[in-house]
Amino acid sequence: MNTPPVVPDVENYVSHTLKTTKPLPPITWDNFLSELNWLNVAILTLTPAASIIGAYHTKLRWETALFSVFYYFYTGLGITAGYHRLWAHRSYNAGKFLQYFLAISGAGAVEGSIKWWSRGHRAHHRYTDTELDPYNAGEGFWFSHMGWMLLKPRRKPGVADVSDLSKSDVVRWQHKHYILLILLMSFVVPTVIPWLGWGDARGGYVYAGFVRLCFVHHSTFCVNSLAHWLGESPFDDKHSPRDHLITALCTIGEGYHNFHHQFPMDYRNAIKWYQYDPTKWFIWVCQQLGLATHLKVFPDNEVRKGQLTMQLKRLRETQESLAWPSDSNDLPVISWDAYQAQAAKRPLILVSGFIHDVASFVDEHPGGAHFIIKYIGKDASTAFFGGVYDHSNAAHNLLAMKRVGVLHGGIPLAVDDKAIPPSQRLKIARYAELSSPYASSTAYSDRDDDKEGMLG
Ligand SMILES: [Zn+2]
Ligand SMILES: [Zn+2]
Repeated sequence: MNTPPVVPDVENYVSHTLKTTKPLPPITWDNFLSELNWLNVAILTLTPAASIIGAYHTKLRWETALFSVFYYFYTGLGITAGYHRLWAHRSYNAGKFLQYFLAISGAGAVEGSIKWWSRGHRAHHRYTDTELDPYNAGEGFWFSHMGWMLLKPRRKPGVADVSDLSKSDVVRWQHKHYILLILLMSFVVPTVIPWLGWGDARGGYVYAGFVRLCFVHHSTFCVNSLAHWLGESPFDDKHSPRDHLITALCTIGEGYHNFHHQFPMDYRNAIKWYQYDPTKWFIWVCQQLGLATHLKVFPDNEVRKGQLTMQLKRLRETQESLAWPSDSNDLPVISWDAYQAQAAKRPLILVSGFIHDVASFVDEHPGGAHFIIKYIGKDASTAFFGGVYDHSNAAHNLLAMKRVGVLHGGIPLAVDDKAIPPSQRLKIARYAELSSPYASSTAYSDRDDDKEGMLG
């Protein structure tokens, strides 16, 4: 029995492997032909070529068109509900009937056996965006879409344990009869059904066979390319996966890929029941029919934490793009006498222990210049906070921008609401900033600063 190597730390494993194993030489025009994977090149070029030529010479009947769409979903679900969510991620349990159903339909998508596919996909999740990710999105859109199959891989994918799949009867059965299953499911069945049903063997062969296969291929390939390129990162932005409805429409519901990479064991890709995810609906229906059980759902509380983190991150960016008032730690400490002396030379006003230079504002004051002039060299705190006029939050925010000093002993309380402008009361702080001894809201209360500064 093969025991997978123990990988204690993924980061170390990645850098260690990249350092100690040599990649194959880079692809150049000289080695290009010998570095192609010719089997995949043949499959991925002959299918679209046969589709175009066949469709040009074959009339499309509406029965065959409908059947082709149905067969696209049938074989596509073999990949999304079977290969991907059942086998690669074990996001639910399926009874034997459903397992055979998905193993057979998945073979019709011609994307390799369950075991080979799941091994690569587990490495993709574990080493996302690194060179050990077989379809590393960092190598570009076309590489992650299909380039990784057309070229011989430069490196072996990172280790991923698939011992559970090696034990599965159905996975082993599919692996053993894979070639036969491909021929049967991708060409024989889609030809025979239209032939017996409405006498259109040729249409079935071309449209439900080749054209449908071409669509299934590129639909699934979009999960590695488009889903790592188009859309938003509402749950985490550490890696490239994104959420987008367009990707979901192209991939039978696999387009909520940012969610999926954060919570890969969840049977859903789109968390809201109405969001387009036919794979999730199919699995849910199978549960209602008693064919599937133990559908895994990540706790909503934890999902929302991811969302909140990203929302706060965006708000923090906005916060950092704005100018903020000087902190008491950054301002000179001024005695009452020095304040008096300097107020005789320029318009200084004391509010909540902070000295403000209002020279640029005297004439703009909506209540009139004389109200400001009256308080030059005085403590205007009571007047500002309602004694004369209860100023708006915006006025308080603006006033704080005019700080030039702190009155010695002038700020009595650490968390005096009036000393903190409204815009700063809900400010987003990183954890490290909160525990810092220099955090602004706690620093000035017990400051015993004998040195006297000069107003800036
Ligand atoms: Zn991905
Ligand atoms: Zn996945």
